[in-house]
Order: sequence, then C-alpha cells, then structure tokens
Amino acid sequence: MNLRRTSNRASFEAQREAMVERQIRRRGIGDPIVLAAMAEVPRHLFVPPARRKFAYSDRALGLGPHSTISQPYIVARMTAALDLAGLRETSAAGGEVRVLEIGTGSGYQSAVLAACGCRVFSIEREAGISNQAAANLEEAGYAASVELRIGDGSLGWPEESPFDAILVTAGAQELPPALLAQLAATGVLVAPLGPPSAQVIRRGQFEKGELLWQNLEEVRFVPLRSGGGFGDSSER
Ligand code: SAH
Repeated sequence: MNLRRTSNRASFEAQREAMVERQIRRRGIGDPIVLAAMAEVPRHLFVPPARRKFAYSDRALGLGPHSTISQPYIVARMTAALDLAGLRETSAAGGEVRVLEIGTGSGYQSAVLAACGCRVFSIEREAGISNQAAANLEEAGYAASVELRIGDGSLGWPEESPFDAILVTAGAQELPPALLAQLAATGVLVAPLGPPSAQVIRRGQFEKGELLWQNLEEVRFVPLRSGGGFGDSSER
C-alpha cells in the first residue's frame, strides 16, 4: 500500500472518531453497542467515490434518484431504538438478534447492524442499488452476516420470519401490514411513518399482545415505493 492510501485511511479514521463524538455521543446516544459499531464501520466505503470526502459529514448523501445513505445520527438513533442488548436476552436464536431491514440502499445500515453482532436480512427494490450494496458489504467485510434480496420490502421476508427486529429505512404513510406479522412477539419495530411533511420515526413493541407505539424524532426519508416493476434500476 502506498503512502497516500495509508494517510487517506488514517484521515477517514480520524473523521469517523469525530463523527461518533460530535454527531452521535454528544447528541445523547449512549448505547455502547451502537457507538462501537459506528466507530468501526468504514462509512466511506458505502458512499459513491465522487462524494467520499463528505462521507463523515452530518447529512444524508444521494446514491441514485430514489436512494440515499442516511445521516449518521439517524442510523445511530434508529439502531439504538432497537435496544439490541434487550433483544439479545429475548432472541430465540441463543443471543443472535435477527433483523429485517427494508431499503438496503448503500448497505451502510446493514453493516452497522452486522457490526452490532446481528444477522441481517435486507430488501431493496432496485437491482442496481442492491448489487452495489453487495459489493460495498463485501469490501467492508460484513457480507457474511448480511443476506440481500431484491424485491418489494413491504411484503417482508416470510421464509425467514419471525424477526427480533424490523427496521424500515424508507418513509411510508402507514406500516405495511405484512411486516407486523413477521415480528417476533418480543420484537421491536422501527420505521419512519406519516405524511412526507410530518414524518416521524416510530418505535413499536408488543405489550401483552398489543402493539404500543412511541414517537422518536421527525425525519424526512425517501419514500417506500410499492407496486410497479421491481428490480429495474432504470425506472423513473
Ligand atoms: N438503509 C439505507 C438507506 C436507504 S434509502 C442505507 O443505509 O444506505 C431507501 C431505500 O429504500 C432506497 O434505496 C429505495 O430504493 C428503497 N426502497 C423504496 N421502496 C422500497 C420497497 N418497497 N422495497 C424495498 N426497498 C425500497
């Protein structure tokens, strides 16, 4: 490896440390599992090369016409909302937490979940985006913990259900009903829901068989799009 590449990597590491401190810890996220994962995952490998210098900036970045890599703080906030330490206690698979993600995008959120020790199943509707995510996950070293599927995430992944957690990373008016049926009785669901002008990250968890909702934070995600041709990355 030449000197330039080595110093680039060191600079990305320094930027990542600053990101965790300023954008995440100082904004109140203290979950050690999440902080360690955000400090570990090389976010720049999930950002298109032309935008890599902004990889650790406090913002979302575009990947394509309908896809973004979410702002680091939002990734941390949603991951922390899953309460992974709690889910490890209740998981049926002996401490392994199985997470369904809707909207693979860059694969970054999947990598953060993998770095938290989760087994990840992630669905993306656009083939080109999903294939790039597969390459990103491979390069960053998380491919073994993540399974990707191309299709309509609002239908979930019934063959692999139930999931300890379901994380939706595209905005919908309401939660697609199929997803709820695939959540374990002790599971947690986190999704940006509501009209585009008033979207809120909501956290749902069953209590005595009833789903209780909590509002976490206002956000603006790219829309969850259902219907139409799936797997076509050239669609409008
Ligand atoms: N979690 C991603 C960000 C996702 S952006 C990351 O960490 O980078 C939202 C993604 O959801 C987009 O890539 C979009 O193509 C995808 N998407 C939209 N509707 C979908 C659907 N019905 N099923 C699966 N993916 C969908």
